Amino acid sequence: MRRPIIQFESNRLGDDIATLSCGHSQRSQRNSLFINQTKIALEEISNSPIGVNLNCFQCDKFELPDHFVPYKKTPIFTEESLPVALTRDHSTKIGIWAKIIISEGKLRYRVDILKADMELSQDKSGIIIPEIMHNVEPLGIVSFFIQFYKAPTV
Ligand SMILES: [Zn+2]
Repeated sequence: MRRPIIQFESNRLGDDIATLSCGHSQRSQRNSLFINQTKIALEEISNSPIGVNLNCFQCDKFELPDHFVPYKKTPIFTEESLPVALTRDHSTKIGIWAKIIISEGKLRYRVDILKADMELSQDKSGIIIPEIMHNVEPLGIVSFFIQFYKAPTV
């Protein structure tokens, strides 16, 4: 999926590192970017690469960025106390990831844009990708909570 660059810096090895709004980073050769598989020289991009959209394959694979930290969690929800809003399409904000952690039973987790339809259980948590619409549906008795993650503050 497309993600805008929010930070762009060069390292000593001669690479440019683009940090995307989702928290993932992409390394590119000095002074160029791969946009839609096409190599584009930085000087062809007006002003700065900040805001340029790159394809983030890690988001497509539900990869929560390793360095993100948990900062908030919901109360435990059950099939009865689950807010109706969670069963309809909704999303987290820019840069906010979350994990659906099941303590009992099963929960269906759907992300239409990625054609994902999974059954979560104690052995399988669900990863919520920033800004991506998703919904859940209890499959019988269930209890779970949602743990939110964000970038570490420097
Ligand atoms: Zn990403």
